[in-house]
Amino acid sequence: MREFDCLLCQIALGDRPSQTVFKDDQVLAIRDINPQAPTHVLIFPTDHMESLNDAAHSDEAVLGKLLRIAAKVANQLQIAEEGYRVVLNTGTHGGQTVPHIHLHLLGGRAMTWPPG
Ligand code: 5GP
Ligand code: ZN
Repeated sequence: MREFDCLLCQIALGDRPSQTVFKDDQVLAIRDINPQAPTHVLIFPTDHMESLNDAAHSDEAVLGKLLRIAAKVANQLQIAEEGYRVVLNTGTHGGQTVPHIHLHLLGGRAMTWPPG
């Protein structure tokens, strides 16, 4: 299901431009508009889900698929060997600003820990 006023639903529908790096019938991966690393990709289900807090038992397959696609895109964009970070921000304290669940794939530089 797509939500009319949701940014990532609009991108999934092709109503907003984006730089696609992977797409199939369930998952889309696009370049982040404000990259925080040399490689910064957002990976999300095309069906709307607000956050990890809304994940149901029936969503386990697509949520697992997001991780597999993250690894596939990391390999495709040649950051897999040196390593990368996958982040899932949830809610206000988690730093989530776009209310459609998405993984961040970050790479191309050494990450620091702990995150801010
Ligand atoms: P969050 O803060 O929800 O974890 O991540 C939202 C991400 O979406 C941010 O990294 C932000 O730069 C990115 N973003 C916001 N608006 C757009 C947009 O219109 N296009 C793309 N490609 N990324 C966006
Ligand atoms: Zn949405």
